[in-house]
Order: sequence, then structure tokens, then C-alpha cells
Amino acid sequence: MNHAQLTALGRALRLLGEHGEALTADTPDARLHEVKADLRRALDLLDESVTSAAPSTRCAEHPNGPVDEAAPDLCLLCETRRRAARRAEFNGPAPAAAPTPTAPSRYGTRGDRPQPQQRWLPELWNGQEWQLCGTPRRDRREAELYIAAQRRGSRPAMAYRLVHEFTDYEVLRVWGTPVRVDIEPMGNL
Ligand SMILES: [Zn+2]
Repeated sequence: MNHAQLTALGRALRLLGEHGEALTADTPDARLHEVKADLRRALDLLDESVTSAAPSTRCAEHPNGPVDEAAPDLCLLCETRRRAARRAEFNGPAPAAAPTPTAPSRYGTRGDRPQPQQRWLPELWNGQEWQLCGTPRRDRREAELYIAAQRRGSRPAMAYRLVHEFTDYEVLRVWGTPVRVDIEPMGNL
């Protein structure tokens, strides 16, 4: 915002404040139309002053990047990086931590573990890079239908792609031994 814009916007906003102060049940319609016009003018000034798009994430590095609703900062790029780091940490220095098929574990079976999550991300080519263009879907067909609809839209992008994201849950460390305990009937106590 330059100085002229700051001055004009400040004046327009203060004027709106005055309108608010002066407002009563008897305020005539003609006056309300004036307020409306002044509000529009203030909005136009705001539009001129704000040059960047409203941030889509809370990430300082990627404020307008793709969104991951599940990430604390809503940033898909950083969340993907964090996820990769967690995975690398797990796969790296602690090879003995994971139970292997040849070493049966009493800690559980495959079926007891959380299911891996997979998502399908619709992306479009914005001329420079691929960017997320819709909510990640749990269902591939749904994501494909979404992209098909985008391509039929009034202003389709040059190209679209479907990205398969696979998010695994990994047990990093276990404390104690979760042995199955039979619940005895109350009468036996
Ligand atoms: Zn980020």
C-alpha cells in the first residue's frame, strides 16, 4: 500500500465509522444509500490496496500453497516434508524397532494396526508448476470425476494430473506389553 492509498483508505474507513455513530432508527433511506455508496468506495480502495491473494495456509513459507486440512499449519508442502522426515527417522537409525514377518511379535498382528491412509490429489498445471486444485479425495474415482468436471469447466487449465498419496502409520516405539487380559465374571471374585 502506498501513501496515497493509505490516506484514501483511512479517510474512507473513518467516514464509515462516522456513519455508524450517526445511525438511528430515524435515519432516512437517502442517507442509507449514501452509506452504501461510501461502503462500496471503501471496498474498492481496499481491493486496490491489497495486491496479494488472501493466504490459504498458516505457513509463513507457503502462505498461498496447497492446503492439507489435516496439517496444523494447513500446509500440504510442509506436511509432506514432515511426513517424509518422520519416515526417514523411523527407517533410518533404529532397524530393530520394527517387528518382521520372520520374528513373530506378541505386540499384535497386521490386522490390529491402523490402516494406511491413501488419498488422491487433483492437481493442475499453472504454467510454472503443478498445484493442488481441489480437496484431496479418499476415493480415486471421485477425484477423477472432479478433474473431468474441471476440464469441462469454462476456464480449464492446460493440464491436470492425479497424484496418489500414501500415508502410512508407523509404530515408532512401544512401552510396556499389551497382553490380552480375560475379563472374569463378577461371580468368581
Ligand atoms: Zn509450508
